Amino acid sequence: MITLSDAHLEHLKSERPVRLRSHHLLCMQTFVGNGYSEAFVENMKQVLARLAAEATPGFMLAEGADDLCAACPNLVNGQCTSQNPGQFDALVMKCLSTAGEKARMMTEIPPSLRMTEELLEQCCPGCEWKDLCREVCGCASGLEHGITIYTDDNHN
Ligand code: SF4
Repeated sequence: MITLSDAHLEHLKSERPVRLRSHHLLCMQTFVGNGYSEAFVENMKQVLARLAAEATPGFMLAEGADDLCAACPNLVNGQCTSQNPGQFDALVMKCLSTAGEKARMMTEIPPSLRMTEELLEQCCPGCEWKDLCREVCGCASGLEHGITIYTDDNHN
């Protein structure tokens, strides 16, 4: 059963920026409809749809649990109970620092985080979704199968 809270749905409908932890900037690019639960998948779709629909997509880079975690069964008392996400966040932030991008409010996924198989290897060690993401990256039109927030279309 899908259980997105009213408060969360209200937040997504509001003008407040979507909050995203850094490694989710990668997850969103290879999303093809899979996830931890039905509610998680529905929430991912709603977050991506909102970002894609805005004239100027924007999101706040967050630390810890974010608007995708909000519907995840691994979130318990506001804390992620999975082992790796903190490490993924740190690795992704390293890519951002390397590129000299420190802004917390972002309008698009920066070039240094456009998903590739190399980035996957670098930032996602031990992730349970890695095989799927590798498959999506490797498809001729792989990343177009997911819902992206940085296509030429929605930035023109
Ligand atoms: S596994 Fe953890 S980091 Fe990933 S969406 Fe769930 S709560 Fe968030």
